[in-house]
Parts: sequence; C-alpha cells; structure tokens
Amino acid sequence: MKESLLLLLAAWLAFTPALTAQPKNTPPGKKSPPGLQNKAFFWLTLLHNNDAESQLINAGGSLTDFGGIAHFTTLVKKLKAEAADPRNRVRLGAPMLGTLMLSSGDNFLAGAEFNASLNKGFPFYDSIGMSEIGYDAITIGNHEFDFGPDVLAAFIAGFEPSVPFLSANLDVGAEPNLAALRTAGLIAPSAVFDFQGQLVGIVGANTPRLPFISSPRNVVTGLDVAAIVQAEVDRLTAAGVRIIILSSHLQSIAEDLALIPQLTGVDVAIAGGGSELLANPWNTLIPGDVLNPARPYPLLGTDAAGRSVPVVTTTGDYRYVGRLLAGFDKFGNLVSVDAQASGPVRVAGGNEPDAVRPDPFVQANVVEPVAAEIAALGANVVAVSEVPLDGLPFITLGVTYQQALRNYLEAGLGGQITAAQYPAGGSGRITTSMVIL
Ligand SMILES: [Zn+2]
Repeated sequence: MKESLLLLLAAWLAFTPALTAQPKNTPPGKKSPPGLQNKAFFWLTLLHNNDAESQLINAGGSLTDFGGIAHFTTLVKKLKAEAADPRNRVRLGAPMLGTLMLSSGDNFLAGAEFNASLNKGFPFYDSIGMSEIGYDAITIGNHEFDFGPDVLAAFIAGFEPSVPFLSANLDVGAEPNLAALRTAGLIAPSAVFDFQGQLVGIVGANTPRLPFISSPRNVVTGLDVAAIVQAEVDRLTAAGVRIIILSSHLQSIAEDLALIPQLTGVDVAIAGGGSELLANPWNTLIPGDVLNPARPYPLLGTDAAGRSVPVVTTTGDYRYVGRLLAGFDKFGNLVSVDAQASGPVRVAGGNEPDAVRPDPFVQANVVEPVAAEIAALGANVVAVSEVPLDGLPFITLGVTYQQALRNYLEAGLGGQITAAQYPAGGSGRITTSMVIL
C-alpha cells in the first residue's frame, strides 16, 4: 500500500516536467513554437461536480453533517473567492486567473426530493438551488430525460439567471420545448468563455446508450461520440478557442479514458455518470470514503497526439466540489497542474473542522420546503409490509405493494407509480415519501 502510494507520488513528480516539455501538435490557432519551455501564463480553476441527483438536503444515512445543496452552494462561493484571490498571481507566478463552475450531468433524479419539485411545479427546487450555485455550464446527463423531454425543458427554463446546457451529440430539434431552448442558446454543443482574450471552450457529450436507459422520446443521440466531439473541438479551435474542456456524461471515467486517445485538442476532461472518487493523500474525505491509490486526482489520459490530458470526476450527491487548478501558457497549451491545490473538496457542516454554513437563500427556498414536504409524506402510511424492509436501498415494488399503492393513488392523488424506494434498514411501513409519483 505504502509502496504504491510512493509510486503514485513519483508519477506525480514526473508529470509536470513531462507536460512542460511537450510541443502542442494540434490544429491552427493552438500552436506553440516548437521546443519552447513555456511557463504558465493563465491559471484556470475548474470547479465541478456530477451526479448530484437531487440529493438536496444532506448526504443521507449517518452523513447528515455532510453534503446538501445549501452547504455545497456556500462551499462553491468560497472556492470561487479563493480562486480569484489576487495573491494567487504571486503564488502561481502568472498574470491571469480564471474560474469556471461546471456540472457533468445527472443533476436530478426520481425520488422523494425531486418528487417535491414535481408537486411544486415550475420552477423546480433543483433549478432554484442550482441557480444560486452559479454554474457557468451544465452537461446534460441521462437522468435528465427520465421524465421525458418536457420535464427537462422545465428544469432548464427554471434557472435564473439562465445557464447553457451542453451536449454535442444530442439533436433536440424534434422536441418543441427543447428546440425552443436551443434557439435561445440554452441548449448547445458547447459554450465559450472569454478570460481577457483567452477563450475557453466547454464541449458537452452524452452517453450513446441514452435511448436505452432513459426516455428521450424524439431527441436523437449521436452514437459516434469521438467523431462528434472531435468535430466540435475542431470547429472551436478554428474559431480561435485555444483551451478546450470536455465535460461529458458517458457513465464512467473509464469511458473518458477510452475516448481521450481518439481525440486531439482537448486539454482537460471532466467525466460524469460514474461517481468515482478520485483523491490524493492530502485531500480530506467524507467518513466512509477510502483513498484508492490507483485513482489519484487527476487521472491522466494520452490523446491521439501523445499529449497528457488530465481526466477528473467526483462522487455525486453534492458530497464534494471537484477542483482542478490548471496552468496554460500564452498559446493555450496546458503546461502544469497544481496537484497540491487540486482534488475533491468535501462539503461539510455541523462541527466538522472544515464546516461551512448553509447558504441562507438555498436553505430557506430549497432545503427547508423539500424537507417539510418529505416529512409530511413520511407521516402518511399507504401500505404495510409483513417483512422488514432492510437490505437493498432501492428495490422494485412487489405486486402486492404495487396494488396497495395503486389503490391509494386512484383513491386520492392520481399519478403513476414507476418504482419505489425503501431506506436501508427501514421499517415495514411504506409511506408516500418512498413512492415516486
Ligand atoms: Zn448517468
């Protein structure tokens, strides 16, 4: 264990010089003079998360002092302020600083918490809370289509201020509500941000398995992700965008690591859908999370031109904010990663040494109303099991329970049961908070 950790650190020490020595062999607009040992001119802090999946209140189970969208919001604001601190220019020896906050998809998920949003109506609680986090761009995941394209359209339209939702391999033209958002520029293959003339492009991508695992209806999924992403990277590069980040939702970081060797021009990849924990020995983790020496933050891929590409992701449920501090030269070449300042930053509250206070707006307008609704639903018993409901956190309802719940719904609320969830170790009571309506 110790030896592999040392090897990991050795690999890290080797990483930065190797990266510095590489000439950038990419299309026009992104060239550096060959052989020049470039120095970081622009430090970009990439803050990111993925698979938040409507885990709005806290991380659940015994982790009530961790996670939660109100604490997450405060932490993101704090990390943005830290990244913009002018003293970083001296520490990092570079004149320019920039920050982007990105999501790599699966922002909401069926369950008691999102059910509160569906009952409330427009705008959804998730849209209200995520607006306050201050995302610059959000990749569309597969779960965004679980309630069909119109619920996704309402989710996107509920952001104030609006945020671009990205995917290069989704064609939403045949879905009127999503097509209208595309016309308004809120659904796009990519988004470009200008940091005093340094253009940074974010390209989104979704899993080609989307039609089989969700309900995109008339949304067409492009299957050749590598070719589609490369075409978008080339289009941006030709337009003078020198730094390109891939923010994908391909369902696992292994998919991203397999994609990078097929691409050129992507400087950093942020993966979504796998919720893998990437971390370094100096990162503080949530209790129960274990450092895996085979999964440092970042992992490194090698692109088709032989260049190293940092690949990152983080665990979902608003448990961590991922932070990658990447240094680029004047030509947009990635020349360094500040490993010490990079990694997952855990979302902590309570009396933890790194606790942040919940964001008051998000606490009052998202967490409290959602918690109140779930508490009310939890008091409403609609069926009783004769056996303890322990074991799996999610199981499909048996026929008897389905019928009991259907009777309940037909008598009162209406709606359609698609699944139900039992808390692990829960009692034999089934309440409406466990039912996805
Ligand atoms: Zn997913």
